[in-house]
Amino acid sequence: MKILIVNAGSSSLKYQLIDMDDEKTLAKGLIERIGIEGSKLTQRVDGEKFIVETPMKNHVVASEHMLKALTDEKHGVVKNMDEIGAVGHRVLHGGEKFTASVIISEPVIEAIKENIPLGPLHNPANLMGIQACQEVMPNTPMVAVFDTSFHQTMPPKAYLYGVPLEYYKRLRVRRYGFHGTSHRYVSARAAEMLGKKKEDLRIITCHLGNGSSITAVDHGKCVDTSMGLTPLEGLIMGTRSGNIDPAVMQFIMNNDKIDINEMLEILNKKSGLVGISGVSSDMRDVEDAAAEGNQEAQYALDMLDMGIKKYIGAYAAVMGGVDIIAFTAGIGENGPELRSSVMKDMEFLGAKIDEEKNKVRGKEADISAPDSKVKVLVVPTNEEIVIARDTLELVTNA
Ligand code: AMP
Repeated sequence: MKILIVNAGSSSLKYQLIDMDDEKTLAKGLIERIGIEGSKLTQRVDGEKFIVETPMKNHVVASEHMLKALTDEKHGVVKNMDEIGAVGHRVLHGGEKFTASVIISEPVIEAIKENIPLGPLHNPANLMGIQACQEVMPNTPMVAVFDTSFHQTMPPKAYLYGVPLEYYKRLRVRRYGFHGTSHRYVSARAAEMLGKKKEDLRIITCHLGNGSSITAVDHGKCVDTSMGLTPLEGLIMGTRSGNIDPAVMQFIMNNDKIDINEMLEILNKKSGLVGISGVSSDMRDVEDAAAEGNQEAQYALDMLDMGIKKYIGAYAAVMGGVDIIAFTAGIGENGPELRSSVMKDMEFLGAKIDEEKNKVRGKEADISAPDSKVKVLVVPTNEEIVIARDTLELVTNA
C-alpha cells in the first residue's frame, strides 16, 4: 500500500508518499505560503525538483495541487489518487484523550478541536490539513498520529505541576510532552541497533533540533519528558527560553509595561540560542560565532550543554540507571561538538564516547568507547515512517 503522510502548518503543508512494500519514499513535497502571496509547491522525486508557483488561497487548493503533483504525468509517482491507500496526518496535541494513533472520524475531529486551547498554533492548522484532504480524497481512510501520545504513559508524579490540583482537574493543566513520535522511533530503533528488546532497557532520548526535548524511556515506556503543557518548557532551544522562574515574567512585564502576549512572544520567539547569543537561532551560526570569540554565543552553547547534562543526570536517577543515551534531530545527529561536550565527564554514569566514532554526522552509529557501560548512539529520527506504519496498521485492521 502507498501511504501519504501530511504535516500541515498554518501556511504550509509538508507531504511524503511512502510505498509500504519496501518503506521507500517515492516523493517528498513542501507547499509554502498558503493563503498569502507567492504560494509555491516544491516536490522532490529521486533528487529531482518539480516546482509549481500559483496562487493557493487555502489548504483545500494546496491539497489539490499536492495530488496534481503526485499524479503529474511527467513529475508524478502515481497514475491516479486511487493508488494512495491511506493518509496519515501529524497532529500536535492529542491532550489526554489519545494514547495512540487513531482512524479519523467525526468524534476524533471534535476531540482535536477540543484540544485547540492546548495547541493554539498547531491544532487548527493540523485540522485544516485533515479537512482539506478529506475534501479532495473523500474515500481514502485517514489516520491521526499525535506528538503527545507516546508521553501518555507518564505517571502523575511526572506530569503534574506543583500548582493547586484543581487546575489539573478543571483545566487539564499538566505536562504533556512533544516530539513523541520521534522519541518513540528513536528509543525503539536504538534497542534494535543493539539487537535488544526495548522492554529490557532504560533509554534517554535527546531530540535536539530547532525545538529540543529529552525523554526518559523506561522499559519501553515514557516516564518523563522535558517539554510541558506546551513546547516552551525544558532546554533552551533555537528561539524558546526553556525553563525559567515564572516570576521572571512578572518582573519583566512590570518593568517594561508589556502584556502577557508580548511576554510569551519573547519567550517563544526571541529567547533561547538567538536571545542569548544575539546572533542566530541556528546552531551552526552560534557555533561559528563562538569559535570566532563571541562570548555571548559561547554562553548560549554552554547553557544548552549544561541543560542537556542536567536532564541526562536527572533521568538516569529517575530510572535507577541508564543503558542507552541516543542523540537525534538536526543538532543531535549532526553536531559532534555538542555531543562531545555533553558526554565529557559522564564517566561517573558509566558513559564514555569514542571521539573518532563521534565524528559521524546524520547516520546511525554507536559512538560509545569500548569500555563504556552505557551505549551512546546517534539515531537519525524518522517520524514519517512511524506515522506511515501506524496508518498502515490501523487501516488494514479496521
Ligand atoms: P531540526 O529542527 O531537527 O531540523 O534541527 C535544526 C537545527 O540543527 C539547527 O539549529 C541547525 O543549525 C542544526 N544543525 C543542522 N546541521 C548541523 C550541523 N552540521 N552542525 C550543527 N548543527 C546542525
